Amino acid sequence: MQNPLLDASDSDRDFEQPLRPSRISEFIGQKKVIQNLSVFIKAAQKREEALDHVILSGPPGLGKTTLAHIIANEMGVQIKPTTGPVLEKPGDLAGMLTNLEEGDVLFIDEIHRLNPVIEEYLYSAMEDYKLDIVIDSGPNARSIQIELNRFTLVGATTRKGLLTAPLRARFGIDMRLDYYDVELLQRIALRTAAILNMGITDTGAHEIARRSRGTPRIVNKLLRRTRDFAQVENMDTINDAIADKALNALDVDQNGLDEMDIRILKAIIENYEGGPVGLGTLGVAVGEDKGTIEEVYEPYLIKEGFLQRTSKGRITTRKAFKYLGVSPPESED
Ligand code: ADP
Repeated sequence: MQNPLLDASDSDRDFEQPLRPSRISEFIGQKKVIQNLSVFIKAAQKREEALDHVILSGPPGLGKTTLAHIIANEMGVQIKPTTGPVLEKPGDLAGMLTNLEEGDVLFIDEIHRLNPVIEEYLYSAMEDYKLDIVIDSGPNARSIQIELNRFTLVGATTRKGLLTAPLRARFGIDMRLDYYDVELLQRIALRTAAILNMGITDTGAHEIARRSRGTPRIVNKLLRRTRDFAQVENMDTINDAIADKALNALDVDQNGLDEMDIRILKAIIENYEGGPVGLGTLGVAVGEDKGTIEEVYEPYLIKEGFLQRTSKGRITTRKAFKYLGVSPPESED
């Protein structure tokens, strides 16, 4: 299902490009990830080796693609980006791999959607920098081995649970990105506004940050839309009042919850009296893939205290009932 705030359209990608931090020092937040990554990069540079393979996981819009580019920049190498579903045939993968120079980064976004046949080929490429390709078919079929330059595979996924164990085991560096707190998102809003030459007050940036679902991509999108509202009203600086007006007009919830978040909470409260309800049942009730609920929506709802995971299934908290203006069932008291 498409989510207008979480997904990036082509026009969003063009808009996002200049906003991407390109060096580690410009990357805001994710302190632990950044600290560790800096060490691994420095060590690889000292050894004059390619960086070990990296898997980046976490909900959409938190900076996985940005970090992949940063890794390449810091290592001083090229990055060749692709996505899991685009690599259909072994030849597609061979084409990408044989084009890599020593130390280059091959970035595979949505790596959990890789065709299993391609994945098998990737194993020896990642481990021994060799690719065994079968050419021809029938009696003429034969296998040839291609030597590859040493490279770094950076894989990104919103669904790490879907990666097979053998693939997961081949990544030496495993990093999970988490939602950002409001103070960090406010800094990101101020940084983006400065790059785009937009005037914004601290409180305007705070209002947008507070309602961006912990996600830098949403900060940038809401900032872009808020600028439209400000321009129409001939305001050259975004303050909290115009931000609030724009966000309300865009149906952005006071907590930044999006339509699917609300739909999930409502389904549990209205259909199952607050739960527990199994993930599969919940998925059918809201019309969303259960894995996506588990790895994209649920983490934020849990973080914000609206939802809990129990051994029997998902339950909504009193905060969720209150938020939706529904009285909790008697037994909750
Ligand atoms: P993902 O690959 O995880 O979906 P992206 O790396 O495409 O996310 O990030 C989406 C947008 O959010 C980028 O354009 C970037 O400008 C912004 N962004 C992400 N993380 C940060 C950060 N830590 N600091 C500043 N901007 C960020």
